[in-house]
Amino acid sequence: MSDLTKLTLAEARDGLKAKSFSAVELTRAHIEAIEAARGINAFTTETPDKALAMAAKSDERLANGRAGPLEGIPLAVKDLFCTDGVKTTASSNILGSFVPPYESTVTANLWADGAVLLGKVSCDEFAMGGSNETSAFGPVVNPWRRKGADGSADPTPLVPGGSSGGSAAAVAAHLAIGAAGTDTGGSIRQPAAFTGIVGIKPTYGRCSRWGIVAYASSLDQAGPFARTVEDAAILLKSFASVDGKDTTSVDTPVPDYAAAVGKSVKGLTIGVPKEYRVDGLSPEIAALWDQGIEWLKAAGANVREISLPHTPYALPAYYIIATAEASSNLARYDGVRYGLRVPGEDIVDTYERTRAAGFGPEVRRRIMLGTYVLSAGYYDAYYVRAQKVRTLIARDFEAAFNDGIDAVLVPATPSPAFGIGEKSGGDPVEMYLQDVFTVTVNLAGLPGMVVPGGTSSTGLPLGLQLIGRPFGEEALFTLGHVIEAAAGRLTPEPWWRD
Ligand code: GLN
Repeated sequence: MSDLTKLTLAEARDGLKAKSFSAVELTRAHIEAIEAARGINAFTTETPDKALAMAAKSDERLANGRAGPLEGIPLAVKDLFCTDGVKTTASSNILGSFVPPYESTVTANLWADGAVLLGKVSCDEFAMGGSNETSAFGPVVNPWRRKGADGSADPTPLVPGGSSGGSAAAVAAHLAIGAAGTDTGGSIRQPAAFTGIVGIKPTYGRCSRWGIVAYASSLDQAGPFARTVEDAAILLKSFASVDGKDTTSVDTPVPDYAAAVGKSVKGLTIGVPKEYRVDGLSPEIAALWDQGIEWLKAAGANVREISLPHTPYALPAYYIIATAEASSNLARYDGVRYGLRVPGEDIVDTYERTRAAGFGPEVRRRIMLGTYVLSAGYYDAYYVRAQKVRTLIARDFEAAFNDGIDAVLVPATPSPAFGIGEKSGGDPVEMYLQDVFTVTVNLAGLPGMVVPGGTSSTGLPLGLQLIGRPFGEEALFTLGHVIEAAAGRLTPEPWWRD
C-alpha cells in the first residue's frame, strides 16, 4: 500500500469512503510515522491504543453509513486542550500528571465528527512563548533544516515556532493529518509559517474556549493546522460552535468553509498596510509580500495600500494585556486543586513552594509582569492604557473594513525559523519581537490565516498572513487558496527517519 501519511485530509476522507483503505490502516500508518519521529519530540503523550480503538469504531460507522465529516481522520491535539482520561500538561511540570475528567468542547466536536486522537502534542509552557523552547519537556525540533550555500543540509536543529510547535511539527512531518492549536498572539500562525503549513486563528468567539487551559482569556482562540487550505477549512467547520459553557462563543451559523476554497477572488479588495513595512524588514520577507500581492492581483483581486496607524503600539499593549490576564488565570495553580503539590509549613508556604517548583522561568516572568501591571499605582499607567491602545487597534481595522477592504495581506513573521537556543538565551524581548505581525489580530479579535508563500535563501518556509473581517473566514479560505495554488505546497526532507 502506498504511504497513507502522504494523503491530504480530503484525500483520506474520500479514500476511506471508497474503502481503498480502512481507518485502522490509516491510523496505524500514522502511529508508525510517530514512532519513527521521536527525534522531533512533538508528542507529550502518544495514545496509540486509544487511536486504534477509535479508528475501529470509525470503520464500523463507515461500514454502516453513519460516518461523520472527519470519520477516521487521525489528528494531534495541543496539550492545552483537556482530554477526558488523557493526560493534559500544558507542557508544564505543575500539570505534569493532570488527567482531566472532562473533554474540551473543541475536541469533543472533533470526536463527535469521527476524528481519531493520535496523542497530545507539545507547546510552550502554558502557551507562553514563540519557539516551543519553554516546554518543561524539552524543545520540539522543526522538521525543516537550513540549506547551506552549496545546497547541503545544515543539521543545526531549528525551532518549529510556538507556542503550538508540536502541532505544527506533527502536521509538517506527516505524523498527523491535521492538528488542533491555540493562538493568543500568533501561536497558530507563526508555527504554521515556520513549518510550511496552513494555520488559521478564527474570529474571537468562533470556537469555544471551554476546557482549554487558559492563558489570556480575551485573546485565546482555538484553530486548526493542516497541509492544505481546503483541509484547514474542513477542520474549522468541526472546531467551530456556539457553546453555553463559554459565554464569549458566538451564536452565528458555521458556514461550509470548504465551499469557499476555489471561488473567484474577483471583486475582493485587499489592503496592504504601510505600517507593517517595519524598519529592518528583511528584503526576503518584503519580496515575499510583494509576490503575494502580485498573485492576488493576477487572480483578479483589487489591491490597495491602507494605513493602520496604531500598529507600532500593538506589541507592548499585547504583552501588558496578555501577562495581566495570565497572572490572574494562573492563580488557580496553587498545589491544592490541580496537579503538583510541594508541601510546606503552612498554606502560604505550600503555595510558594509549589509554584516555584511547578512553573518554568518564562511563566514566572509573565506572572510577575502581569501582577505588576495590575497593581495599585501602575494599573492606570500600564493596564488601562494598553486597553485603550487595544481599542484603537481594533478601530484601525474597522475603518479599513468600512472603507471596502475585504482582507489584509501582511507577512506572517519577521524571519524564517531560527535555531534552538538562538533567541532564548538572553533578552526575552528578542523573542517577543517575533510576534510583531501577529498580535494585532488577537487584540482586534479578527480571523488570521497563514499560508506558505515560498522559501528563504536558506531553504526554509516563509508564510503570508491574511487578516479578515470579523467572521470573514470564508474570504480567507478563498484568498489563501489562490496563494497556495501559486506558491505550491512545501514538504521537508524526512531526516528524522535515518
Ligand atoms: N508568542 C506569543 C506569546 O508568547 C504568543 C503566544 C500564543 O499565541 N499563545 O505570548
